[in-house]
Amino acid sequence: MLPAHGYPELRKFKHLVGNYGSAWQNQRKEFDEFPGAILVTTNCVMIPKDSYKGRMFTCGIAGVEGVKHIKNTDFSEVIKKALSLPALPEKPAGMLSTGFHWTAVLSLADKIVDAVKKGKIRHFFFIGGCDGAKPGRNYYTEFAEKVPKNCIILTAACGKYRLNDKDYGDIDGIPRLIDTGQCNDCYGAIKIATALAGAFKCGVNDLPLSLVVSWYEQKAVAILLTLLHLGIKNIRLGPSMPAFLSPNVVKLLVEKYNIKPIGNVDSDLAEMLK
Ligand code: SF4
Repeated sequence: MLPAHGYPELRKFKHLVGNYGSAWQNQRKEFDEFPGAILVTTNCVMIPKDSYKGRMFTCGIAGVEGVKHIKNTDFSEVIKKALSLPALPEKPAGMLSTGFHWTAVLSLADKIVDAVKKGKIRHFFFIGGCDGAKPGRNYYTEFAEKVPKNCIILTAACGKYRLNDKDYGDIDGIPRLIDTGQCNDCYGAIKIATALAGAFKCGVNDLPLSLVVSWYEQKAVAILLTLLHLGIKNIRLGPSMPAFLSPNVVKLLVEKYNIKPIGNVDSDLAEMLK
């Protein structure tokens, strides 16, 4: 529900009170513990446990055997189920800032460009992508923690749950952590990067910007292909290189785009800040 708070038409509803849960790999545990009705709207859905199957629904392209699929945007059955179930205990774990659609970020463009020119912002990092359960993904958490205080972190997709539960503060009112949204909103991060390149009259590869991407499934691969199509180089990819990339394809990606696997946080960070 986190991105929903950034959509004006959804924000109108007083029932939209927060976000529950984190990335997809925690879904079966978190849905089990969540007492309410669940509506799955997109693809990263896991085979449900029997404990919550009866209060789960799908819509759109999402579908799971044995789970009621909502057609024609008639959500009355979901609402009826939600009203019949107990409320969540009122104990929010914390507050997060959201609503950084690229259009909102670009309204700060002059301020951002000015802060870069004055040396207040040293570097931008995009840290995000698909999350997963494989060990080694704490790299992204550690990386965000070690980003120097004069740098901005852009994030998107469920990889953000590795790093968005901390207060990163701001640089002259510009938040140091800018959550551009869900996986589909990686487009927004690209728009921000190209607008910055336009403002500085340079290419995206010449910006003080590093991309530290976590991948898991087909959507992340599609996003990576988009970045490569745009000619973006020097991407760090992890937690491991996709197994379906043959040695020849890896060689080509390294030669042409200087893609690198993530390694040690301190040395990777030092190299990106050179
Ligand atoms: S970021 Fe990737 S893993 Fe996460 S919900 Fe989106 S497509 Fe699924």
